[in-house]
Amino acid sequence: MRAVEAYPFKPVSSRRRFLATTAAFSLTSIGIRAQLSARGDAALTKEQRDRMTPTEILDELKKGNERFRAGKPTPHDYRDQKRSSAAGQFPAVAFLGCIDSRAPAEIIFDTGIGDGFNARVAGNVVNDDLTGSLEFACAVAGAKVIVLFGHTACGAIKGAIDDVEMGNLTGLLARVKPAISATTYTGTKSSKNGAYVDAVARTNVLVGLDNMRRRSPILADLEKKKALLLVGGMYDLTSGVVEFIS
Ligand SMILES: [Zn+2]
Repeated sequence: MRAVEAYPFKPVSSRRRFLATTAAFSLTSIGIRAQLSARGDAALTKEQRDRMTPTEILDELKKGNERFRAGKPTPHDYRDQKRSSAAGQFPAVAFLGCIDSRAPAEIIFDTGIGDGFNARVAGNVVNDDLTGSLEFACAVAGAKVIVLFGHTACGAIKGAIDDVEMGNLTGLLARVKPAISATTYTGTKSSKNGAYVDAVARTNVLVGLDNMRRRSPILADLEKKKALLLVGGMYDLTSGVVEFIS
């Protein structure tokens, strides 16, 4: 697939071009589109999405993160993806991440228009509105994987550690506090200690997953039936790696 992705940005030899074309053809001809936005030129169809298992979808997200890190993302044709998804969407995944400008799910997992729902809130906290959004994404619209992910050096986590109080942010940061008390850490417990901040962020993801299962019998039931994979992740702002932690 790498050869396909090289096109059309890099000139390739005719032999390589032939191999790329063959690879693309064999994928479509056997009717398996096991990669989200495999060719970047159309949104997922219902048939393509329904054919994938939750585990296969997660594997594709891992591959997408590898492409992002390697600087070789799929050459997305957003206009075609827009056109082919306008009449209906069949996303495979729903993300819940932080609003941090450095952690955009579509880019770090290399997904296209129509591939995934993307819910974002500071500190990737879980509340009823977000849980309701994810219930829609999975139970109504058919997404089969939820990735709840935090990231390193998260400002919301630092704010919660520092007991920041400011307008509506105070109530939001209160949702992070349970992760602080649930984090076992032997070093300096300060917002200036990056390792501690990241340890709390990691706990916050696990607390969020528990929270979601408790708040939503609908999602918990889908997970029990193995129709839904609920996974946590930690995105490293420096390396670009998403580590899956549950
Ligand atoms: Zn953040």
